[in-house]
Amino acid sequence: MVSNLLVDDVQIEVRKKKIKNLYLSVHPPEGSVKISAPLTMSDEAIWEFAVAKLAWIKKQQAKLQRQAKQAQKEYVSGESHFFQGKRYLLQVVETKKKQKAEIKEGKIYLYVRQGSTKEQREKVMREWYRSQLKKQIPPLLAKWEQRLGRKVNFWGVKLMKTKWGSCNPGAKRIWFNLELAKHSFRCLEYIVVHEMVHLLERHHNQRFYAYLDKLFPNWKEIRAELNGLQW
Ligand SMILES: [Zn+2]
Repeated sequence: MVSNLLVDDVQIEVRKKKIKNLYLSVHPPEGSVKISAPLTMSDEAIWEFAVAKLAWIKKQQAKLQRQAKQAQKEYVSGESHFFQGKRYLLQVVETKKKQKAEIKEGKIYLYVRQGSTKEQREKVMREWYRSQLKKQIPPLLAKWEQRLGRKVNFWGVKLMKTKWGSCNPGAKRIWFNLELAKHSFRCLEYIVVHEMVHLLERHHNQRFYAYLDKLFPNWKEIRAELNGLQW
């Protein structure tokens, strides 16, 4: 039995099957939502379940849409790319000198070899994003090391699929997602603070969120910005 459910603005395909539990899934590339439910479950109970999961569903959809948009980028002139929460038009320039990117006249200029592939241009862009984060992160770490009274032993920037950052409290090691370069500075600072609070509390428990509330009161708003930005 297949039916469709509309919760808020999210369309959900519901299949009733001979199963014991309820399953919810969000599928790439568009973020279509499916629920498999036991035959005996009432439509009302399914609807209540979907409502309770709505925030999670929307977060997954935003993530998938971001990944899909990112995969479509060709790194050609006229395309739009984000840096620090602002949208810029890309201007690709052929060069025999050092390959690099820079912001000039309100555009991102990407200097690459003649005949470069999409992957090669993407790599130059990523190196630029990485170098920008490597400049922005140290003062933030210093500021919050002082406020939290904790030291970070090692930190780095890498491309991460599902997280904005990660922290190993034992080793005092933090990784930041390269994609943070595309978001506003306050988003970057929120992730710095979030990961550093893990040096005080390893788990996402009440104690952890109490620290965040105290140290970075508007973190929920910023997290929404981080998970909702469309490009
Ligand atoms: Zn965390």
